Amino acid sequence: MTKYIFVTGGVVSSVGKGISVASIGRILKSRNLTISVQKLDPYLNVDPGTMSPYQHGEVFVTQDGAETDLDLGHYERFINIELTKASNVTSGQVYSSVIRQERKGDFLGGTIQVVPHVTNEIKRRIRNAATISNPDVLIVEVGGTVGDIEGEPFLEAIRQMRNDEGHDNVLYVHVTFLPYIAATEELKTKPTQHSVKELRRIGIQPDFILCRSDREVSQEIKDKISLFCDVAKDAVIPLVTSSTIYEVPLLLEDSGLGDLIINRFHLLSQKTNLEAWRKMVYNLQTPKDKLTIGLVGKYVGLRDAYYSVREALCHAALAHNCILHIEWISSEDIQEEQDERLRQVQGIILPGGFGSRGIEGMVKAAKFARENKIPYFGLCLGLHTMVIEFSRYVFGSQNANSTEFDPETPYPVIDLLPEQKAVDQKGGTMRLGTYPCKLMQATKAAEAYGKDMVYERHRHRFEFNNNFRQQLQNAGMVLSGLSPDDKLVEIVELQNHPWMLSCQFHPEFKSHPNDPHPLFVAFIGQAKKTLIEGSQTILPIK
Ligand code: GLN
Repeated sequence: MTKYIFVTGGVVSSVGKGISVASIGRILKSRNLTISVQKLDPYLNVDPGTMSPYQHGEVFVTQDGAETDLDLGHYERFINIELTKASNVTSGQVYSSVIRQERKGDFLGGTIQVVPHVTNEIKRRIRNAATISNPDVLIVEVGGTVGDIEGEPFLEAIRQMRNDEGHDNVLYVHVTFLPYIAATEELKTKPTQHSVKELRRIGIQPDFILCRSDREVSQEIKDKISLFCDVAKDAVIPLVTSSTIYEVPLLLEDSGLGDLIINRFHLLSQKTNLEAWRKMVYNLQTPKDKLTIGLVGKYVGLRDAYYSVREALCHAALAHNCILHIEWISSEDIQEEQDERLRQVQGIILPGGFGSRGIEGMVKAAKFARENKIPYFGLCLGLHTMVIEFSRYVFGSQNANSTEFDPETPYPVIDLLPEQKAVDQKGGTMRLGTYPCKLMQATKAAEAYGKDMVYERHRHRFEFNNNFRQQLQNAGMVLSGLSPDDKLVEIVELQNHPWMLSCQFHPEFKSHPNDPHPLFVAFIGQAKKTLIEGSQTILPIK
């Protein structure tokens, strides 16, 4: 029977609730328990797929093609699990399904209310997530902060779960923040007390309080929180900001949280085994060669928009014993090919994106990488810009383009598939989720993966236009990954270049700190080579 851990947040947002959930998952998994995770998001959007990256950060794509909150990325990276559509529930989904049932007449004319109809639907979805993989423990994160109007039905639903499932099968973790007052040099507990009071008003008494803080938390402060919030002393757990998020599972384990949860649930588990993780964190924190990668994107003002890309780069750098520095370069700022910042990097990565803003800057970055033989890695839109740039060079025309940016282009090298052209809706019209990709022998892609067939996650509408295959191949572009039926181009690379490769999918979603993605490892490996071999890429500044 599945046990449930519900995690709420208090005081302010961005205190690391998602990382805490992922870390709890890791410490329980390291005891050989099976874990699944779910995120309940109180906003009314059906999914974050159509939300602006500025509003929502990255959209994380699950293997079954759900467009979800970026916290699911933390869960997968930390716990090494694959989540599904059922792992992200929004108010939008809950209300639409309740209203759909009402329209169908499923409630037999009854008055539809938040309690019990909406809360029942929320509980049904929580249990559904547990049924899918039948884990020992399902950890459920409630998005937002306690006190938000939107979050109330979710809190009410998780409150009911304790009675429904039994006291020994449900526990509540509240993550709060302790502000530091510089003038008096002290951490304050009052906001935490108020937030717990608010939780209690709803009927939830937390079993554990995780206190995020930028300073050490004294025993005195812990005792005070224990007294005023009515939790056991050892259940007040400091979460002091650390240099890497991957240290958080170790902080929680060392504070005893793992054992406390096991005892509280009366679970039989094996001894914890976090040694490999500990070693990985040690390596991350030990200074090494610094590698600079230029990330040229449309949304670099908001780093969260590229969360998984950033993490995947960091995992690969770790595998090569390097410390990664990312130079964030807004593609709109690239006015000329000889951009000074591009000269300073050992590799250029172009991540995904939508719409025409900043595309010409990305094409210039691709040109710079091709001409100067700088390692280049394109992800989805990064493949499109690589193909556009190469085509402009091959056809001698600045008008080669994707029909996403220029519907009238004479060289539509990136285009919608004919069957996609009839669709005019924005939500849910993309190629989403995992598709197979067959690799061509003796290519950089095949060498990186060391396999014949791989499975990667997609999120895009536009594809490589097959009408241009022959001409681009003749000019030195290698189609190193294709769909098994040969119809779709999945990976391209250049013949006369040390490492210029792009993929139509998003490999960043499948990278883990302890299991980095092969393409990222190959890209960083080539970048490290340029660092060691000298100034191949560090060109003299004019
Ligand atoms: N805008 C492009 C498309 O829709 C690329 C999408 C992406 O980079 N995820 O195909």
